[in-house]
Amino acid sequence: MAEPNYMLNIVGVFGFPVAENPTGVMQNAAFQALGLNWLYLNFEVRAERLGDAVLGMRAMNNFRGVNLTIPHKVAVLQYLDEIAPSAQVIGAVNTVRREGDRLIGEHTDGKGFMRALGDDADIDAAGTHAVVLGAGGAARAIAVELALAGARRITIVNRSRERGEALVRLLTEKTPAQAEFVPWQGAYCVPQGADLLINATSIGLFPNVEDAPDIDYDSIFPGLIVCDVIPNPPNTLFLRRAAERGAATLDGLGMLVYQGAIAFKMWTGQEPSVEVMRRALAAEFGG
Ligand code: NDP
Repeated sequence: MAEPNYMLNIVGVFGFPVAENPTGVMQNAAFQALGLNWLYLNFEVRAERLGDAVLGMRAMNNFRGVNLTIPHKVAVLQYLDEIAPSAQVIGAVNTVRREGDRLIGEHTDGKGFMRALGDDADIDAAGTHAVVLGAGGAARAIAVELALAGARRITIVNRSRERGEALVRLLTEKTPAQAEFVPWQGAYCVPQGADLLINATSIGLFPNVEDAPDIDYDSIFPGLIVCDVIPNPPNTLFLRRAAERGAATLDGLGMLVYQGAIAFKMWTGQEPSVEVMRRALAAEFGG
């Protein structure tokens, strides 16, 4: 008979606020589906206690990894032993994995986006021209992964000039991609040579489901791949309007599930069922 083992492996998310973060729903569903004795928990950690929280995690051998959300994604860098290459370029970490006593920082958001692009749309980013709406954390992660995967040209369209130009500077200095900033003034017209159009702003997120980015929807054409980072609702007004123009679409729920699946694999070494994860989250979002 197997030895009894009452020790669960713990992963979770450090954030503040963190009560509404639904990541545990998909991770716990995936643990259960594989019969793993792992548990994902939300930990409310204030900005000034992050160092203590990481120390506590280090002290507990069965605390196997953690996600970071607001306000910890940049602050956590100082407490880690190693930062993965793309997370170094992005300058932020959303996932920590453990190798023995070493804590390694990763960023899975852009990787989740890339996997959705490859697995669900069969797109290779190499040589493409991507137009990214937004220049915040999600835009940064996506633009860096696209650039590192060989995107030829990246256009950053953003409302605030400062953030947009900072992202273009980062891409230009740290990746081989050609990057340019376009100030977002009035309806943005998508350039006809573009391959990808990505909404990486928070426009359209529940409960503001009637909002859509201010673009000239007539400039969307069949052949363009239109992607949204908004996971809830998955079928945003932005994607619906793009689909009406004949474009292929990728939703933010897929990206969210894939970035979680990548973290799951980093923590457990096993491949989770993305179907189980997607179903669990979609049910949570009322889909
Ligand atoms: P940030 O606050 O870092 O950035 C928000 C971006 O949206 C900025 O570029 C901001 O522009 C822009 N923006 C917001 N409102 C408007 C508006 N009314 N008009 C024009 N631009 C606007 O947020 P994050 O990047 O962290 O998150 C953005 C979204 O991505 C969130 O909704 C989040 O849920 C989603 N997300 C999804 C993930 C997934 O896996 N599907 C993963 C991570 C995030 P400005 O600089 O001018 O303020």
